[in-house]
Amino acid sequence: MKLSRRKFLLASGAGALAAPGIAGLVAPKDTVEIDSEREMSLWTQETPKLPSFPQFEGERQADLVIVGGGYTGLSCAYYAKKMRPDWKVVVLDSHTIGSGASSRNSGSVSPYYADKPEEEALGKRGLDRLKGFIDQQQIDCDFRNISMLRMQFSKEGAEAARIDNNPQTKWLSADVMRERMGTDYYTGAVEQQGAFSVHPTKLVAGHAMAAVEAGAELFEHSAVTNIEHGKPATITTPNGTLRAKNVFIATNAYTPRLGLFDYKMYPLHQYTLATRKLSAQEIQQFGLDEWPMRFEKRTLPITFAMTPSGHFFVRIVLGYASHNSSEWPDLKGAKELASRIFHQRFPRIAELGLEHGWHGVTGHTASANQIAGAIGEGNVHVSVAYNGLGIMPSHNNGYLSACNITGNKDQDTASLTGTTGQVFVPGDFYRSILFKPGFKFLTPV
Ligand SMILES: Cc1cc2nc3c(=O)[nH]c(=O)nc-3n(C[C@H](O)[C@H](O)[C@H](O)COP(=O)(O)OP(=O)(O)OC[C@H]3O[C@@H](n4cnc5c(N)ncnc54)[C@H](O)[C@@H]3O)c2cc1C
Repeated sequence: MKLSRRKFLLASGAGALAAPGIAGLVAPKDTVEIDSEREMSLWTQETPKLPSFPQFEGERQADLVIVGGGYTGLSCAYYAKKMRPDWKVVVLDSHTIGSGASSRNSGSVSPYYADKPEEEALGKRGLDRLKGFIDQQQIDCDFRNISMLRMQFSKEGAEAARIDNNPQTKWLSADVMRERMGTDYYTGAVEQQGAFSVHPTKLVAGHAMAAVEAGAELFEHSAVTNIEHGKPATITTPNGTLRAKNVFIATNAYTPRLGLFDYKMYPLHQYTLATRKLSAQEIQQFGLDEWPMRFEKRTLPITFAMTPSGHFFVRIVLGYASHNSSEWPDLKGAKELASRIFHQRFPRIAELGLEHGWHGVTGHTASANQIAGAIGEGNVHVSVAYNGLGIMPSHNNGYLSACNITGNKDQDTASLTGTTGQVFVPGDFYRSILFKPGFKFLTPV
């Protein structure tokens, strides 16, 4: 049986939604984007280059084939090899290893899952696992404890935040922000300690090296174009085929283009724009050393953050591109929009020069629940759709999925609940009509 979009939907109980009539309108014919260009992020430019990995060719057998070489796929490869050193574990990436969201994000490490903020113990164990991995592998990825500002932009919001302010947080008035940060835009902010940040590309490079040292084989420019269900499953790439006892799908925002879950998840496009490298004096002048992470909570949230190397950046949500594409059709417009938003909030910092821009995609579900667990006949596993908050969850889910695949126990494997809790997301036809103008309308500029 092919794990094609339609068959998967039928198997997962969402088949009624793809009934004739509706299916004709929504079914996209799109396939994996093999030749798309990915402009390097600033993070990647400043990270020592990983060795190149070969393209997959020929006919092979493996105990575990992992589709996608970001945090999720590489973490699973590493832990699976640790749990089963005798297994042949293969990672296939359509582009270069780590070139997806794992090297394009804002580096804010949350100690909780987007869909389970109340499950503090689960998040804490996930964070401890990630920290333990970084320490044990001695990954130099600037993991650090920082303070975070929750910025307010309305009088009412500021008043409510000021009243709610608890002893663990500190209130910053609009006057303080004007004086210390050179901004008139905000009505105040709550300062919170206990946030964490990391250098995303150094972290994913560390994952790749750990997986290789553990004995996994990594392949680049080896897009999986089809997964045929069965025991073993058959994985097709442009230059070769693998028969796999187990498969792990770790393609996050790119998953719908693989033909899976396109009625359950969708990719959202983001753009990041960073200043030139600032001097120590400039960093101090605008309070960037004291408040390196600044978060504006909106329907389309905005993040400002300092990189460890001295660039201050803004990250904005752009919206949805047709056909679940992971390419944004107007990068020039995206850069202009990010620049306008930056100038509006922090004009004096923006004037210092906005030099580095990059684009990325995140995987979302309507309910904000991740999709993680066994699907199909039980030997195909998945972990995708972190709803924009995936650094800790992707690493932890890679570990938990490795437990499930190799038959090891962990108290948290029950948190991988598959596709339960998902809400139907209309297909591309409706998304294009509803999402695109919706995102434009909600853009906070
Ligand atoms: C701009 C931006 C800001 C973000 N900020 C934060 C943040 O501050 N904090 C946080 O926690 N999270 C953040 N995230 C989310 C976080 O980066 C992701 O959740 C995380 O990187 C997901 O890792 P992953 O390995 O699952 O996916 P990815 O890193 O996207 O890896 C998926 C891989 O699959 C490969 N692939 C796709 N299709 C195929 C195929 N058919 N065959 C083979 N390979 C394929 C891709 O090339 C890619 O390398 C952000 C994301 C973005 C884009």
